Amino acid sequence: MSEQDNCIFCKIVRGEIPAKKVFEDDDVLAFLDIKPVAPIHVLVIPKKHIASLAQVSETDAPLLGKILALVPTLATAQGADDGFRVIVNAGRIGQQEVQHLHIHIVSGPQPLGPMLAR
Ligand code: 5GP
Ligand code: ZN
Repeated sequence: MSEQDNCIFCKIVRGEIPAKKVFEDDDVLAFLDIKPVAPIHVLVIPKKHIASLAQVSETDAPLLGKILALVPTLATAQGADDGFRVIVNAGRIGQQEVQHLHIHIVSGPQPLGPMLAR
């Protein structure tokens, strides 16, 4: 059994579990976070299973660039026309919960507060 078989985001890519998709092409999928931390909370993932930002290499650069370049369009489409925050949790210290690389786009009508709780 491979890592992809049990990966929850791979299951979303394969259509095995539902998600509220907001963008899809051959390489990238974006969907609403199931437990939003702000009024706008979108996850953007590569369809290909990459476990973590902590495990990417230079060969992943075009895909990562593509994902990041999609952010403003996705954010605006969700109504974040006055700014947003992008978060990538990685590894144990970053408290990454789902081991399939994803970026969070969060925004809302109100400013989001400090980057980390202090
Ligand atoms: P992490 O802590 O790994 O950066 O964030 C994982 C995110 O995935 C969390 O914000 C969590 O709410 C979201 N998430 C976990 N399982 C699911 C799911 O089955 N569907 C959706 N849409 N989001 C999920
Ligand atoms: Zn996966």
